[in-house]
Amino acid sequence: MKPISRQAAAMPPFAIREIMELAWKTPNCIHLEVGQPNFSTPNYIGEAGIQAIAEGFTMYTPARGIPDLQEAICDKLLHRNNICATSQNLTVCPGAVTALDSAVMALIEAGDEVLLPDPGWHNPKSMVDFLGATSIPYCLHPENNFLPDLKEIESLITARTKAIVINTPANPTGAVFSEKILKDIYALSRKYDLYIISDEIYEEFVFDGSHFSIKSIDEDDRVIAIYGLSKSHAMTGWRLGYVIAPVFISEVITKLQESLVSCASSITQKAAVAALCSPYDAVDKMRNAYRQRRDMALNILRNYDLYEYTPSGAFYLMVNVSRLGNNSGEIVKQLLTETNVATAPGTAFGESMNQYVRVSLAANEADIRTGMERICQAITRTSSSKQKAAYQ
Ligand code: PMP
Repeated sequence: MKPISRQAAAMPPFAIREIMELAWKTPNCIHLEVGQPNFSTPNYIGEAGIQAIAEGFTMYTPARGIPDLQEAICDKLLHRNNICATSQNLTVCPGAVTALDSAVMALIEAGDEVLLPDPGWHNPKSMVDFLGATSIPYCLHPENNFLPDLKEIESLITARTKAIVINTPANPTGAVFSEKILKDIYALSRKYDLYIISDEIYEEFVFDGSHFSIKSIDEDDRVIAIYGLSKSHAMTGWRLGYVIAPVFISEVITKLQESLVSCASSITQKAAVAALCSPYDAVDKMRNAYRQRRDMALNILRNYDLYEYTPSGAFYLMVNVSRLGNNSGEIVKQLLTETNVATAPGTAFGESMNQYVRVSLAANEADIRTGMERICQAITRTSSSKQKAAYQ
């Protein structure tokens, strides 16, 4: 038989999948491995979806999304992101992941280089590799609170660099790029004529300060910004994201959407109108809960003398487990077996993270408390037994 696509076959498996499967087989496991909000979708959003079904609003929609959702999104962008956009800049997609993939597909081709955060969420890298382009990691160093070093980024730019991907607030670190950093990244992209793909799916979860959208300063139309309701409104299963791009790119993204998925679900789009046009009280409550969980987790780390940095947003925390070894894939399995706590291996987000595990704060408070205590005990237990062995 003729071979199937080599690029498709070479796509790596979802690196957290293995630990998720092991965790589901582990009785009484505490699940801190998945980035899935543990809140239910607010009722008024669900009701809007039910009403759409009751009214028979169950057909294909325009690829860019229904007009009332387009209007709601443009209004939200203006008031919450300081972005002036029209429906010509906008494509509604089934989830931010589709928005991100079609943005990458619209811009990148074989031979291009793309700068990607390390650590970073795996998806854009897989897509860049799939397209036969080269992903160039730029490091977000723990000693710099996982923020980018602009000089280091500049040193990686070549004539082939087409785009830089940024993600703030960030998965897996929770780092939030300041307005100054984002303005510096914008200046760099102007200097070297780069596109910026800005993944802002965690925009609503900033605990210290506020979220700044790089698209709001996009004077020469080089930013493609990605948003979605999965995290902000606890709507992961509804699948709703959207991408804002310069008109000429937006047209291509919309064509790609048309051929990949036709459109986002009509029912979900009606629910999204309700989400965006209602007060954000439920979102505020979730933000406060994530902030409290973060503070509690950090206090536990401090109690064990393991505190390293403060994530300012999203709902993740990287924990340094170097005292347990330097293979995070093995360490998460060890933690699962010894403590019944599932975490994600740091290396799922980049090679530089082999001494870290990611803890998701999208779990209930009691689980986070017990899970963090057990992880810290495992780390300190190992380091004190290593110390004892060294004195013997
Ligand atoms: N970007 C980042 C950084 C994410 O962590 C995720 C989901 N984990 C997404 C995009 C995709 O979100 P969605 O559910 O909207 O596809």
